[in-house]
Amino acid sequence: MLNGRTALVTGSTQGIGLAIAKALAQAGANVVLHGIETAAEGEAIAAGVAALGGVRTAYVQANLAQADAASRLVAAAAAALRSPDIVVNNAGIQFTCPIETFPTERWDAILAVNLSAAFLTMRAAVPAMRERGWGRIVNIASVHGLVASVNKAAYLAAKHGLVGLSKGAALETAAQGITVNCVCPGWTDTAIIQPQIDARAAQFGGDRQAAIRDLLSEKQPNLTLLPPERIGDVAAFLCSDAAAGITGVALPVDGGWTAQ
Ligand code: NAD
Repeated sequence: MLNGRTALVTGSTQGIGLAIAKALAQAGANVVLHGIETAAEGEAIAAGVAALGGVRTAYVQANLAQADAASRLVAAAAAALRSPDIVVNNAGIQFTCPIETFPTERWDAILAVNLSAAFLTMRAAVPAMRERGWGRIVNIASVHGLVASVNKAAYLAAKHGLVGLSKGAALETAAQGITVNCVCPGWTDTAIIQPQIDARAAQFGGDRQAAIRDLLSEKQPNLTLLPPERIGDVAAFLCSDAAAGITGVALPVDGGWTAQ
């Protein structure tokens, strides 16, 4: 399905990003994985993904909190395999705190990793996609790109920004066979939500299962943490020919959260 295509997936050594890398490899794409792990750690994970799909993979390390590193990432991916036909901006961080005490350095880091890095990789990747007349950009936003919750000022600004950025990029590239879409997950079972589960568990005498049930019942009608694979499969679908007519969309994968 994606044979002969090369994908770059940011933040793909764990969680949703790794699930996306695996789904794309299983669909036949060669994949450049990216993360903040050492070369040895990252290459071991990339080798596992290659074995899964019978495809070529590579690993690039880059700290996306640094604008120059994000700017160089697409070129590094091109040097490792080839300039990407598919870019999935997945790397992201979270910090929760009331707005009046939200630390400036947390705001700056979240905007850099969750929003500016996506802009920088898209800016770098679009020219080759335009030349080829084919491209897929999938940006992993969040339900928090569509609706708000308390204590997430920077995350909300970044994810709402990512949805807007993606719509604009979709319009600018639609006539060249390129699609740009967001996936908007609800609660998904990965590392990024663990501090929020821990904080809620403290209200339940340390009972993590009670904390998860409480978090889900507040917002997510299917009452189930999504497995990261559910997001991986949707991202791979958005890269497929079947999705060629879908661009500028922010697609909730949220167990009903945003239907309320
Ligand atoms: P995760 O913490 O497992 O993965 C985050 C990834 O981002 C990691 O691979 C990490 O290495 C990378 N990353 C973090 N800081 C980085 C930096 N400075 N430079 C480069 N890479 C960096 O969590 P996840 O749930 O897999 O998150 C993936 C994406 O999904 C994020 O954008 C997140 O906002 C989004 N998301 C997650 C959920 C959820 O409930 N898990 C819900 C909605 C959206």
